[in-house]
Amino acid sequence: MKKHNFSAGPCILPQSVLQKSAEAVLNFNNLNLSLIEISHRSKDFVEVMETAQSLALVHLQLQNKGYKALFLQGGASMQFLMTAYNLLEKKAAYLNTGTWSEKAIKEAKMLGEVIEVASSKSENFNFIPKNYNIPKDADYFHCTSNNTIYGTQMQDFPKTEIPLVCDMSSDIFSRQLDFSKFGLIYAGAQKNMGPAGTTLVVIKEEILGKVSRAIPSMLNYKVHLDKDSMFNTPPVFSVYVSMLTMQWLKDSGGISAIEKVNNEKAALLYSEIDRNALFEGFVSKKEDRSKMNATFNLKNDGLKATFDDHLKQAGINGINGHRSIGGYRASMYNALPLESVQVLVDVMQTVEKGA
Ligand code: PMP
Repeated sequence: MKKHNFSAGPCILPQSVLQKSAEAVLNFNNLNLSLIEISHRSKDFVEVMETAQSLALVHLQLQNKGYKALFLQGGASMQFLMTAYNLLEKKAAYLNTGTWSEKAIKEAKMLGEVIEVASSKSENFNFIPKNYNIPKDADYFHCTSNNTIYGTQMQDFPKTEIPLVCDMSSDIFSRQLDFSKFGLIYAGAQKNMGPAGTTLVVIKEEILGKVSRAIPSMLNYKVHLDKDSMFNTPPVFSVYVSMLTMQWLKDSGGISAIEKVNNEKAALLYSEIDRNALFEGFVSKKEDRSKMNATFNLKNDGLKATFDDHLKQAGINGINGHRSIGGYRASMYNALPLESVQVLVDVMQTVEKGA
């Protein structure tokens, strides 16, 4: 039975990417060796790393603008600490839009003063705060572009002279932005890029070298940059699959083309959530709704068993809300086809008719 994979991450990847990855695990580049049993210093793998770095910069339109791309380990969670280690001298400004922002704030507090410029915590993070002030003397401003758990997404980013640092784990490569506004972007692979195990970090090199503390080698961006992301053994499989996914995105027309499909998917689902009297959206302000993760609830809990049963029969997978907020969450990452969203909408309408 065909599955419709709405999982929040790890999540759906293009079928063609899975196919090629499986082949490379058995026989990579016709070497009669597996991708995961050859040296990361071999010509074949070095080429993978270079292609992945270059594709990331091409997609973000950051080539020849002083940016470099790294593929590191430790997940996006490691970046909560690394960003502060490398950039926080005295104080930093953070926007608190949910669990992941809070975790970033917690790590930064170990290294300096943190100014929380605004927070939506009192409303269970169901909106994105706006019109806050960022202190001009902060070392950087950190925000989370898409809040995977709550289904909110920043549409605008503040204008500021200090470096803009952004956790784009759950919406990287999903929409066009002026990425050159950012000093540092990081994203765990396991949403729009590839399997868990690597994290893309894109850094404008000029923002580094401003802190006085000694930085342990593995946490030091400069060390990784000097070694072209090969300071130690990189997670070869995750980097390879990420490279394939970025190639797939390029062949599909790049971010501008996928953004159109993402807009269509989000419009289809949100219009059903708003039309169908059985459901209500979790996010309080429509303009803050995420195009990647749509969060919603059944108004009448008594219908949960029926709805869940229909979802299962339709082959819909991974749609339960995060354990911290409950309800439902339909994640519509780049590789999810519009057709899967239509199947979900059909189930919502079937349950409405039977209610
Ligand atoms: N930031 C965001 C926005 C996330 O969605 C997640 C994971 N879902 C993380 C950070 C943490 O990522 P990781 O598990 O790779 O450390």
